[in-house]
Amino acid sequence: MTVAQYIQSSSIPSYLSKDNLGPWETYLQQVEDVTPWLDKELHPWIETLRRPKRILIVDVPIKLDNGTVSHYEGYRVQHNLSRGPGKGGIRYHPDVTLSEVMALSAWMSVKNAVVNVPYGGAKGGVRVNPKQLSMGELERLTRRYASEINILLGPDKDIPAPDVNTNEQVMAWIMDTYSMNQGRTSTGVVTGKPVSLGGSLGRHDATGRGVFVTARSAANKINIPIKDARVVIQGFGNVGEAAARIFVQNGAKVIAVQDETGSIYNPNGLDVAALRQHRAVHKSFKDFPGVEKIDNAQFWQLPCEFLIPAAVEGQITRDNAKTISARVVVEGANGPTTPEADRILQERGSLIVPDVLANAGGVTVSYFEWVQDISSFFWSEDEINARLERIMTEAFEGVWEVAQAKKLPLRTAAYVVACKRILAARALRGLYP
Ligand code: NAD
Repeated sequence: MTVAQYIQSSSIPSYLSKDNLGPWETYLQQVEDVTPWLDKELHPWIETLRRPKRILIVDVPIKLDNGTVSHYEGYRVQHNLSRGPGKGGIRYHPDVTLSEVMALSAWMSVKNAVVNVPYGGAKGGVRVNPKQLSMGELERLTRRYASEINILLGPDKDIPAPDVNTNEQVMAWIMDTYSMNQGRTSTGVVTGKPVSLGGSLGRHDATGRGVFVTARSAANKINIPIKDARVVIQGFGNVGEAAARIFVQNGAKVIAVQDETGSIYNPNGLDVAALRQHRAVHKSFKDFPGVEKIDNAQFWQLPCEFLIPAAVEGQITRDNAKTISARVVVEGANGPTTPEADRILQERGSLIVPDVLANAGGVTVSYFEWVQDISSFFWSEDEINARLERIMTEAFEGVWEVAQAKKLPLRTAAYVVACKRILAARALRGLYP
């Protein structure tokens, strides 16, 4: 099987409806959209955006607790390294595909350039349902995967971080595996680590905080007060839960949330702290008191000021987009809106804060973590949050300015800002040899 055939055969994760583009095709469409807005001198380099620099496909065999051996497929893709080492998370999910990881790595190239942190884009994933593994099996899977992609990793080469179904513990195992192979402790090889191992204060909430900061910047532009604003969130994990909590701290009402187990609604606002505790114990929203259970269609139809998709790709499609009436859609997840849905939302008057801007808070504090590890000098949480706010606000203002000047949606404007930075670096470096 050729690589092209392989990519095609594995292109669409099962949670995407068949009539929508896959993530890589969505990304290619976004490159098409930005091309007319890029300076002519940069055009010869645009093809580099369509071609990942490196793709590594690995077999990850592990011994299960019952003594049998199971094999999993893993990937690490470095999309573009023109502006610095690869940076991007690692996802464990039964629907992970190569084309999805390619798209996620490309979105990291764009995101890192939007907030102007000195990284290229990379992403990794293993096709596995980690919820079916014991802790021991999860550790063996992580260590074997880290060993297999070890040839790409390093604090100045490629620096993973958490993504869907991976967390601080997984990052600690990757850091330890890499360090064992190097014969020295290398904390800067991953970010999103526990604070006791060189992790950064503020990293856990950073993506959700960035979602809030960009949502507030957008709201200021179109005169929506945060106080009592109605917020609807899909996904109650690292990003969704932190965003919910920070919105509530700032006076908004989170009226509905959805996760893999269902959707719950309370027009007066959910008790987010209690919901977090309930979910930690029961692993679902089931039996959470004082809420109404609603179905998927009702969830997307809810009138609200802010709709925050913070789960997986392709959740806002041409079907549910027609029912969405949110004033602002803030993309906490990567690639949650298909290109067709994007157009429908714009026609319906929603302002979309795109993923490459809205969820860049995570990689921004990852950058702070990496700088702190390299310099062995650690900052206070207040300092980190203040720097995060400044970078996110400046990035939003830069994108807003381009959008106003060229009359573009924020997504295309963000791609203009980012692709100019990536391609200018690429052009300056020139071709080797
Ligand atoms: P997570 O694993 O912590 O949480 C994911 C949440 O989404 C869970 O509540 C899960 O139940 C829910 N979910 C998954 N599939 C769903 C479906 N089909 N329908 C409804 N709910 C579903 O993951 P996370 O780290 O919060 O990441 C969420 C998204 O944000 C992903 O797209 C990820 O790439 C993106 N992101 C994460 C970070 C980060 O720092 N963690 C940074 C930038 C972007």
